Amino acid sequence: MEPFYDTHAHLTFPDFTEDIPGLIERAQAAGITRIISIGTDLESSKSAVALAEAHAPIYAVVGWHPNDLAAAPDDVAPALRELCGHSKVVAIGEMGIDHFRLPSGNGGSPMDDEVWKTQQEKIFRQQLELAVEQKLNVVIHQRVALEPTLDIFQEYADRVRGQFHCFVDDQSGLNRVIEMGSIVSFTGIVTFKNAHQVRETVAATPLDKLMVETDSPFLSPMPYRGKRCEPAYTHYTAKKVAEVKGVSLAELSGFTCTTAHEFFPKLG
Ligand SMILES: [Zn+2]
Repeated sequence: MEPFYDTHAHLTFPDFTEDIPGLIERAQAAGITRIISIGTDLESSKSAVALAEAHAPIYAVVGWHPNDLAAAPDDVAPALRELCGHSKVVAIGEMGIDHFRLPSGNGGSPMDDEVWKTQQEKIFRQQLELAVEQKLNVVIHQRVALEPTLDIFQEYADRVRGQFHCFVDDQSGLNRVIEMGSIVSFTGIVTFKNAHQVRETVAATPLDKLMVETDSPFLSPMPYRGKRCEPAYTHYTAKKVAEVKGVSLAELSGFTCTTAHEFFPKLG
């Protein structure tokens, strides 16, 4: 079976409590040989490191998600810095900008939105600075905010590369990401019936600029759409991406695994 890596999963979410050994077993049976568990705040980042210590196929990314900043300290860098030296911490993130969920969508005022956006930008920059300092790449989350995300990221793009995860934007957005030396990864969304535009973006992405992921426990690919997602399902996404690109699973496996090792040099 062709090996693939699930480059973005949230194994520390309560959905997976007590099921990690079974989850790893099912992933390996489906050819998913490495799983990168992504932190969204300090606690989940520490838990991801603990999981990586306990299980050989698991690696960790540590950082603060732009929608989880309510409990963030003034400066997120010091505590994250302590985790960065760990041999299985392969990047910093997920970090970025999210304009999909703003305070105004939840009863807040336009002023609340501005405060929130300023906070997101501040924490995003702190993590980008840390990545430069630690010589680690970053995992980028952005939702309905590609332009503002790229505007900030551009200032660091000569020193750090980004994995623009769960990429659903069009070809012009893709081109900007690639021009900055960064790459994208695709989730199970590529298998959704109506996701024609995402498949067009997949078709336009050079084979050496993409990776696959699940974003577990979210975004289960077909035929499990709507159910809890888990790393074993990476296989369905890989199959669809190979089909869209017109390559064999073996070729896609070769490209995506090579890209993952280049992007995450600490991935064993
Ligand atoms: Zn995520």
